Amino acid sequence: MYNKPIGSSRDVPVDIDKIDIEDLSIRDLNSLVRMSKTREGLLLQVRAEALVQTSCVRCLSDFYLPVSAEFEELFQFPARYREDTDLILPHDGYLDMRPLYREYLILSTPIKQLCQADCAGLCAVCGINLNKSHCEHHHDPGAHSIPLEQEERV
Ligand SMILES: [Zn+2]
Ligand SMILES: [Zn+2]
Repeated sequence: MYNKPIGSSRDVPVDIDKIDIEDLSIRDLNSLVRMSKTREGLLLQVRAEALVQTSCVRCLSDFYLPVSAEFEELFQFPARYREDTDLILPHDGYLDMRPLYREYLILSTPIKQLCQADCAGLCAVCGINLNKSHCEHHHDPGAHSIPLEQEERV
């Protein structure tokens, strides 16, 4: 892209099965990056879809949530660098997109998400995951007024 005329653009697909970016685990990243050369640098217009690992607010277990994000960033030519930006085109031409994917996928992930709409949560007494097993404590159904199935006692 460095030698291309201003105004030219190129679409680059980015597909990654699994990647960890710092604290974020991502699976099935499907992304299309449109790179356009401008007077200031390279403009990246990005669409991304991925499964992002997150924790259920009710039962605290980890699961993968489908997240999509769209964003635009300008990598400036070093010689044109005037504004306060972290994004400067590296001389080797290798753009590290990982911090951008991390930032924008986190921004697009809802803060309070459930592993499933009817997640049963944790037992308030023993802490057992009620999606996976039952215990004898059902004092406080809380927001979930649906009675849980009682195991048969012999
Ligand atoms: Zn849950
Ligand atoms: Zn319990």
